[in-house]
Amino acid sequence: MRYIVAKFGGWANASADRVKKAADLFESNPKRKIKVNSAIGKVEGLPKVTDLLIEGSEKALSEGKFPDDIFEKIQLNHYAVFEPLGLSKNKIDETLDILRKYIARKDELSPDHYRALVVGAGEEMFSRLDAIYMKEIRKLDAQYVDPREIGHILSGHPLDGKITEEAYENLAKLNDCKGIVVYPGFFAADEKGLPMLYSRGGTDKTAADISAAINAEIYENWKDVDGILSADPRIVDHPEMMDEVTYKEIRELSYISFNVLHQEAMLPVMKANIPINLKNLLKPDSKGTMIVNERRIKPDRPVIGIAHKENMCFAIVEKILMNEEIGFAEWLLSLFEEHQINIEQITTGIDSMSVIIPQKQFEQKTIHLGVMEGVRNKIDLDDFAAYVKKTLNADSFIIKKNKAVVCVVGEGMRKSIGLTARVAKVLADNDINMEIIDQGPSERNIIIGVDCSKDPDAGKKAVNVIYNEFFK
Ligand code: ASP
Repeated sequence: MRYIVAKFGGWANASADRVKKAADLFESNPKRKIKVNSAIGKVEGLPKVTDLLIEGSEKALSEGKFPDDIFEKIQLNHYAVFEPLGLSKNKIDETLDILRKYIARKDELSPDHYRALVVGAGEEMFSRLDAIYMKEIRKLDAQYVDPREIGHILSGHPLDGKITEEAYENLAKLNDCKGIVVYPGFFAADEKGLPMLYSRGGTDKTAADISAAINAEIYENWKDVDGILSADPRIVDHPEMMDEVTYKEIRELSYISFNVLHQEAMLPVMKANIPINLKNLLKPDSKGTMIVNERRIKPDRPVIGIAHKENMCFAIVEKILMNEEIGFAEWLLSLFEEHQINIEQITTGIDSMSVIIPQKQFEQKTIHLGVMEGVRNKIDLDDFAAYVKKTLNADSFIIKKNKAVVCVVGEGMRKSIGLTARVAKVLADNDINMEIIDQGPSERNIIIGVDCSKDPDAGKKAVNVIYNEFFK
């Protein structure tokens, strides 16, 4: 039998009622075999448990003591969720003792291994208590399985672990576990048994890796929304819900503004051809959105989604005979890399190239390494432009601000002649000037750059008129 892996994030785990609903789902369908949990998210008035653990472990490392008030908040979070479910304060405290033990191991571990141990405790404590609830209160055949015991081995940086082949082999054994497996996301161990974390939001990855390892039938991801909408509902009035969307379409859309789930989490399931079903925990009977490798294309819907992003810059470099210069593009991009500036898109002409960059990339920014943060200082646009022009010996290099980028996506676009013309016409009819237009080589997306210096809503307007053209 191929099983279902179901993942519950911080929101789903932040109230007794939701945790109960999740248990109902396991009771109602025996195919649901593995419950992968995040730590408790925001309980009214309290920060997320993971954020509290990060703050506490940093203080422990810098000041020598994990603050009592942070521990108390974590305790309150767990009481708020599990007491109404019938677990006593004593029982909850017994489980929270795990955190006390981890906190005390500061001098045995390197700072990053210590962070990984303490921060991952949020997932462990929740999952241990959840397993007790399922077993003792709900009388379900459920057990907590620990990533360190099953051999969930990650390699790399302790705060940004990557799955190993060995882990896949070991995780496949979950198929043979008796009953429901309650499994904590986010943390694991390296081959020496030292604590490891995936990067932030890593429970999506834990669930994806388990799904691939056990060759699950479906990877369910339970959320507080009905599924994925074809446009941002703050811009388009009641946009259509997607019932099916391909991994590649989601990638194109996430790249601009759709935050569906951890990007890296899609890879293992996509490779293993396992669909992801995004579902609403509050409406379990609605179908949600299926993310699949291949989908049926409705002839009247060549476009599946429209994303957009504002506050973008277009950096335009011109150099005569650029096309003859081998390695020019790489050289240009290396200058962005050198300054830790993430770019979104490149379009090229024969002697010119345009790079799309979010404006905020020039502001001071934190550079994430797992749960740790570093800082990159603000970059002055004029200084950077002068530096690039000089280094590349370019004829010109200018950075234009106040742009928006609109991304029109759909597998059906490939087979649809005249689609770009429709996009261009509807924008022209509505007096919106396209500064950049680029069709990806996969013919799955068209990217349009719009100027917002006169009309700050030009990007939103473009989304609306394109939406009306293809969905109404
Ligand atoms: N609790 C972790 C975080 O907040 C992992 C997760 O929720 O996926 O990043």
